[in-house]
Amino acid sequence: MNVLPWQPTRDVDVILRFGSDFGPALQSSIQNTAASHLSPEDSARESLRVLSRAVGVATHAAVTAAHGPLTGVRVPREAMDDGVVIALRLHLNVPMTQPIDPSDGRQVAGLLQAIQGLAPGSIASAEGIFPGVVTEGAVPVLAVINPQTLPGQKLCDYCRNPMPAYEVQCPTCGARSQT
Ligand SMILES: [Zn+2]
Repeated sequence: MNVLPWQPTRDVDVILRFGSDFGPALQSSIQNTAASHLSPEDSARESLRVLSRAVGVATHAAVTAAHGPLTGVRVPREAMDDGVVIALRLHLNVPMTQPIDPSDGRQVAGLLQAIQGLAPGSIASAEGIFPGVVTEGAVPVLAVINPQTLPGQKLCDYCRNPMPAYEVQCPTCGARSQT
């Protein structure tokens, strides 16, 4: 997937794989965002916020230009058995001009935060997609995220959702962090 040079694009798929410990709750969060009554742009920012805070517990990632329906992804053999793949298909009004390295968790989180921080009107919409793992076909290939690049994360003492280590209050349930 990374053999072609990056072309500036307004349609970007950010794809993350999570283990079965965190994946289902994150999938619910993204689905709830889509079902909310927020505007498309606010809903997209909320999904970006959820995913950017979860990068620290993701295992694999890909960031690609969106081409047609996202029907599946490929993952390394050791990640084929379980887990949840969450893709955010972003429709942007300003093109993403530079590729990022999906094996670098800081770059993935930084991209999500940067898009979240774009000026109002910059994000048209985002769709949450939950592609299955397939073994063949021209689908995005997820890279292992190098654990040494993951942003520091901790779990909420109350609801057990992940959050950045520097947070003093849980963004999911509002509980004060004791650690
Ligand atoms: Zn919490």
